[in-house]
Amino acid sequence: MDCLFCKIVAGDIPAKKIYEDDLVVAFHDIAPQAPVHFLVIPKKHISTMNDIREEDRDLAGHILYTAQRLANELGCSGGFRVAMNCNEMGGQTVYHIHLHVLGQRQMNWPPG
Ligand code: 5GP
Ligand code: ZN
Repeated sequence: MDCLFCKIVAGDIPAKKIYEDDLVVAFHDIAPQAPVHFLVIPKKHISTMNDIREEDRDLAGHILYTAQRLANELGCSGGFRVAMNCNEMGGQTVYHIHLHVLGQRQMNWPPG
């Protein structure tokens, strides 16, 4: 499968990895939109948020928990933003789900 993030999981494309376990990988975004901007992805290929199935519920929770834990470890205890873009209208460009975590600057609402 020709998937950029599967290649990062496999180590075929380098990434600045922050954390890895048997289920997820977290790495710094290549084009950071905040002083802290990293992605948490499942090792399992899931194309979009719409493709999360009942059997993936624990995995989805683990992605959220990992995001929170790493955000705090990386100095975002004052607050942070998470986002998962879904499909073209949601602004998704890489079709392997990833949770954006942004921090260490003031976030605004609504997002663009
Ligand atoms: P999306 O637009 O799908 O929500 O987010 C994709 C994100 O992946 C973007 O923030 C983009 O900068 C990041 N990205 C794209 N290609 C690479 C890459 O090769 N390495 C890393 N670390 N991030 C990438
Ligand atoms: Zn993939």
